[in-house]
Amino acid sequence: MKNYISDYEKFDKENAYYGNDLGVTVDGEITRFKVWAPLCTAAYLNLYTGGDGDNRVETVCMRKIESGVWYVELFHDVYGMYYTYTLEYEYNETHEVVDLYAKACGVNGNRGYIANLAALNPEGWEDSARVVCKSPVDAIIYECHVRDFSISGTSGVHWSKMGRFEGFVEPNSRYEGVATGIDHLKELGITHVQLMPVADYATVDEKKNGSGQYNWGYDPKNYMCLEGSYSSNPEDGDVRIREFKTLVMELHKAGIGVILDVVFNHTYYTTESNFHMTVPYYYHRIDEHGMFTNGSGCGNETASEHLMMRKYMIDALKFWVTEYKIDGFRFDLMGLHDIETMNIIRDELDKIDPSILMYGEGWTGGESPYPTDKLSFKWNSYSFGRIGLFNDNIRDAIKGSTFNLHDTGFVSGNRHANSAIKRGITANARYKSLQGTADDLCWAFTPAQAINYCEAHDNHTLWDKLSISVSDRSEEDRRRMDKLAAAIVILSQGVPFIQLGQDFLRTKPKVFKAHETANETNIYDGNSWNAPDETNMIRWDEKKKNLDVFSYYKALIALRKSSPLFRMRTSEELDEHLFFHDNGDDVITYELYSKDECYLIALNPQNEKKTVNLPNGVFYCRLNDEGKPVYKNVYGNVTVPRISCAVFKRIKE
Ligand code: CA
Repeated sequence: MKNYISDYEKFDKENAYYGNDLGVTVDGEITRFKVWAPLCTAAYLNLYTGGDGDNRVETVCMRKIESGVWYVELFHDVYGMYYTYTLEYEYNETHEVVDLYAKACGVNGNRGYIANLAALNPEGWEDSARVVCKSPVDAIIYECHVRDFSISGTSGVHWSKMGRFEGFVEPNSRYEGVATGIDHLKELGITHVQLMPVADYATVDEKKNGSGQYNWGYDPKNYMCLEGSYSSNPEDGDVRIREFKTLVMELHKAGIGVILDVVFNHTYYTTESNFHMTVPYYYHRIDEHGMFTNGSGCGNETASEHLMMRKYMIDALKFWVTEYKIDGFRFDLMGLHDIETMNIIRDELDKIDPSILMYGEGWTGGESPYPTDKLSFKWNSYSFGRIGLFNDNIRDAIKGSTFNLHDTGFVSGNRHANSAIKRGITANARYKSLQGTADDLCWAFTPAQAINYCEAHDNHTLWDKLSISVSDRSEEDRRRMDKLAAAIVILSQGVPFIQLGQDFLRTKPKVFKAHETANETNIYDGNSWNAPDETNMIRWDEKKKNLDVFSYYKALIALRKSSPLFRMRTSEELDEHLFFHDNGDDVITYELYSKDECYLIALNPQNEKKTVNLPNGVFYCRLNDEGKPVYKNVYGNVTVPRISCAVFKRIKE
């Protein structure tokens, strides 16, 4: 395929289309199709009765109307039909493509589908609303993979729904009396679920549903369509839509918001992608030799600075928000998107609902040719202050570097991590009293910009990292380290983020292929994107086995929700209400103080109990190392058990 575009700015000026009617519009008896394809010489609409197979019923010639838009209208009902476009280029080259604006698709996303979306609303949908979230710091985010959540026999979910949208919200599921599934989410108290990609992805064959295929879903194919393998019938374009809307509605009923993980930064296919086949060399970044650049590490990267790619992202996100009532977005490799685009997206979502969350990874997976000062890297954070960023500084300070398995962090006895932990406690935002302490880690524009975590789908789970890096310590010690890590993530300023199962010591045992051999450090899988269920699935019996850990996480979440002092909005509030006490290097102690309340929080990573001084007044232990309150008056010097967090609350001055 030839690159017809020599100057992208000029191309945008001459060809960009600003209308809001790309894709299919059904207007009474008339159905209109519009596709932006300025470089093709002819375009045709193909209608089919199925999502695949030899069942074409009609091919209709489209005409070019404006700004490279091709158009055709049909005067008969086409709901329930599948469709593609055939685009012709010079030299007799033709491509049959799926409409980039297809809102639904057939099996394996090979044809668009004309769905009557409103007719697929489950009963009660009108009453389903986004959750109230006045500030991102009020959110407690829980990252879940749809299949992991209920594919295990221990999930208690009916076998016909396991690993699917339906299984995600099956009520009253239990494992030997312990709540699993959606009931687990309610019990834990998180406010938002972040679903790993649920938009259509490429590598799971939906025609072999039930054959145990696995993928995280970072191999995007159709951006406005749902993944078929999570539905009970991928062959019927309606089913996945109805089942996903039910998932959103049931989570909303439980007071839980739904965040989508969106992967606009690259496409799974490059020359075969719908983007490239619709407008060659337009939607991806191209280097001076005309080659696709690889800032994603996945073979290509998209070009958000090109007006129609930017518009595409905005249109897709607005579609998810308005059609599915989505509560927020997590942007994969957000460092590849230009800052201007991200700020425009923020403005556009604000017009719909300013509480819609936006955050992402402030890094890339490879080298991008786009100027680094214009990309949404973490170090440019002040230029997009209302969009959150994963806080890899607190992550690595807590448990040691993610990229060095044997490295230790604050909870596992590394004293060098203290100053980075203090920065994390203040959400890595500007804070006057820590000047001279790890100043380079002060990057967040406001506390709401820091997404604090120590475990996500990438890399080893916290429990596996501890098992490797401090293998010489007892299991009891490592359990204490895990709980201390949770206390830092959940009680620090900023936005806490937890991975599914982290709250009961999730582990990802590696499944070895024939040519691989196990050793001490590779028995856990740190990159399980296409590993089998045995590695990825949630074993709910582990919740029962580790109920003490679960109860501790639950108690931390309840404590965070109980007081605004754990959820400050601005640096000015931090300056006014948060004070570090000087207890030497052994223990980090800080005070949260307002006219109504006073807390002392002590983080003791040492393998021996430590004494700390309470501020003036009478206190009680609000949260001990079991996550429980101890209703006994204390004042002056108090003891903090080894490897633990203690929270004291003032009763009277
Ligand atoms: Ca798919």
